[in-house]
Amino acid sequence: MHRPPGHEGGRRVDLHAHTIFSDGLLTPEEVVARARARGLMAIAITDHDSVDGIERARAAAGTALEVVPGIEISTLWDGLDLHILGFFLDGDDPVLRSRLTRFRDERVRRAQEIAERLEALGVPVDVGDVLERATPGVVGRPHLADALIRAGHVESLDEAFRRFLGARGEAFVPRPAFHPEEAIALIHAAGGVSVLAHPGTHVGDSTVERLAGHGLRGIEVWHPQHGPALVRRYRALAQRLGLLSTGGSDFHGPGRSLDLGDLPVPAGVLAHLKQAAGVSG
Ligand code: AMP
Ligand code: FE
Ligand code: FE
Ligand code: ZN
Repeated sequence: MHRPPGHEGGRRVDLHAHTIFSDGLLTPEEVVARARARGLMAIAITDHDSVDGIERARAAAGTALEVVPGIEISTLWDGLDLHILGFFLDGDDPVLRSRLTRFRDERVRRAQEIAERLEALGVPVDVGDVLERATPGVVGRPHLADALIRAGHVESLDEAFRRFLGARGEAFVPRPAFHPEEAIALIHAAGGVSVLAHPGTHVGDSTVERLAGHGLRGIEVWHPQHGPALVRRYRALAQRLGLLSTGGSDFHGPGRSLDLGDLPVPAGVLAHLKQAAGVSG
């Protein structure tokens, strides 16, 4: 039996999970119940571009499980797709909430624009249905890909992105602008700690250095997309730049990639994160 990275005394922590408030399959209550059943000590709710699932998760957890309030903001930097995690932020912060509402509205308009292009290309989808199915989450290209499959225009997600929705696809519309610097500042202003999500192979060290110069506080080191070599690389980079290391399963639902707690992080990671956020306990 392989020993998960950083497993310490059975107190498992998972700092990356999605709910129906973005593209996860489970409600916040279901995620909490699953985390408890799987013996976790703490989870972070990190929905894409939304903080709407946090309160429900915290209410469901009570004192049985620690729920770290979080977010994963979809940013773009020179065409580079960078996801910025925020931990321990105040989900009621009015500036944060209004920026997220604007982003969500812009995403709806973008989905409509993509749908117009698909119609012109002879592969129409029902955009009203797309938006309804995305509710209460944030609409994105995966929802349009599902609609293309349902309408029988493509056979797979891969084909939908390759032919229509990907950066070289015929109906491509870039995501509305959200600069990583703005995301970092917004998270910070809402009392949170910003962390670069799963940099993987496509982000260079110089990019991380520049983000650190803009106030980034950490790197997501442990992630399903990171093999041992990338974990070593980002651990070393975090150490060199004086950044925190975090990690998690990026749970989206049962049967989708890893399950909750399957990529646990050392308990010390949560303690350091709390210290950085000025949270006690
Ligand atoms: P959006 O935020 O609307 O631009 O959609 C981005 C999401 O689309 C990503 O988080 C992925 O889940 C998904 N995605 C992007 N490219 C692909 C691809 N080539 N195949 C499948 N899913 C993709
Ligand atoms: Fe996702
Ligand atoms: Fe992500
Ligand atoms: Zn994620």
